[in-house]
Amino acid sequence: MLADLKNIGIKGLSEVYDSESRDSYVSLYLNMESLDNKFVERRKKTCSSVLKENRELSENFEKTMQTIEEYLDKSSREKGQKGLVIFASNMHGFFRAYKLGLPVENLLIVDSSPYIRPVARLIDEYETFGLVLLDSQRAKIYVVSSGRIGYKKKKAKDIMNRHKKGGMSQARFQRLRKGAVNHFLKDVSEDVKKLFLNHDVVKIVIAGPGNAKIMLKNFLPDEIKSKIVDTIDVDFDETEGRLVSKAEEAVLKDEKETSEKNMSRLKEEILRNGLAVYGLKETGDAVRNGQIELLLISKDYKIRGWICEKCQAADAGVKNRCPYCDGRTSEVDVVEEIIEFAERADTKIEFVEDNPALKELGGVGGLLRFK
Ligand SMILES: [Zn+2]
Repeated sequence: MLADLKNIGIKGLSEVYDSESRDSYVSLYLNMESLDNKFVERRKKTCSSVLKENRELSENFEKTMQTIEEYLDKSSREKGQKGLVIFASNMHGFFRAYKLGLPVENLLIVDSSPYIRPVARLIDEYETFGLVLLDSQRAKIYVVSSGRIGYKKKKAKDIMNRHKKGGMSQARFQRLRKGAVNHFLKDVSEDVKKLFLNHDVVKIVIAGPGNAKIMLKNFLPDEIKSKIVDTIDVDFDETEGRLVSKAEEAVLKDEKETSEKNMSRLKEEILRNGLAVYGLKETGDAVRNGQIELLLISKDYKIRGWICEKCQAADAGVKNRCPYCDGRTSEVDVVEEIIEFAERADTKIEFVEDNPALKELGGVGGLLRFK
C-alpha cells in the first residue's frame, strides 16, 4: 500500500540519531517513475570506499545495504507509486520503508541520523486537498492525500435534461429544471462540507465542465469556500490520474504563492525590526528555543558546518571544539540540523524556491512567536 506522509512520523524520525555521531544510518530515496537501476549500486560503491577505514562503520554499512537490497528485490512497485523512501541502520536494528505516491529525487545518504529533509519538503508541498468534480447532475468528491486518493464518493441525480414532457411550457420546464439542479448542488455541498471537515482538508479544487462548478460555490459555507484555491475546467469523464495531477498543479501553485507571501512577511518584520530572525546562527537558536512560528528555508540550500555533541549548538564553518561549552563537534549540514530541530518542536517549515532575498539573508529565516 502507498504510505501517507503523515504516517512517516517525521517527528519521531527527527529524534533518531547515533548518540556517538557515527555515520551509521542510511537514507535512500528512489525515483520510481524513471528507475535508475544502477543508482544504488553506484552510491553503495562510493560510500563503501569512503567508509573503508572504519571497520565498525564499514561493516554496518555493508549489512544495512544488504537488508535494503533484499527489500528492493522482493518488493514490487505499487499502482501509482512514484517514490520509495528507506531509512535503515543495521547496528541500531532500524528499518523503515515507505512507498509514496509522490515523486522524489534519487539520493543515498550515510549520516548519523535519518536524512529527513526531502520528506519535510513533501509535507510542506503536498497538503491534503479536497477535489470536487461535477456537472449539473453528477458529482465525484475526492480527498487526495500524499498523491493518492484516500477517499471518494459518487453522486448522481436524474435531472430532466433536454426533453420536456408533453404539454409543459418551456418556461415551466426551465423553472423545474433549475430547481432540480439547485437541489442537487445543495445536496453535493452538504456532502462536501461534511467530508472535507472530517478529513482535515486544507485546500480545495473544484473541477468540471460548464457552469455547475461556479454555481456550487453559492451553496458552500464560508469556512469551505475560503479553502478553494482554484476552479478548473475539465471533462467529467477525464481519467482519475489526469484529474488528480491537474488538481495537484493548482495546489502546488497555491503553495508557491503562500511561500512568497510568507517571504514578504519575513522581509517586513525584518525592516521593522519586529518578530523575525535570519541567518544560520540566529535562526538555529530561535528554533531550539521554540520561538519560531514559521521556519523559512531556501529549497536546495545546504551548508557545511558543525554541531556540538554536548550542547547541540550548531553553526556554519569548521570547529573542532564547541565555542560555548568546549564539547566535541561533528561535521554536519547545518540546514538539515535546523530542520531536525524544527521537526522535534513541531515547527511548521516553509520551503522557499529560488528567492534571492532569502539567500541574501543566509538561506534561512523565521517568523517568531515571541522575542
Ligand atoms: Zn557545546
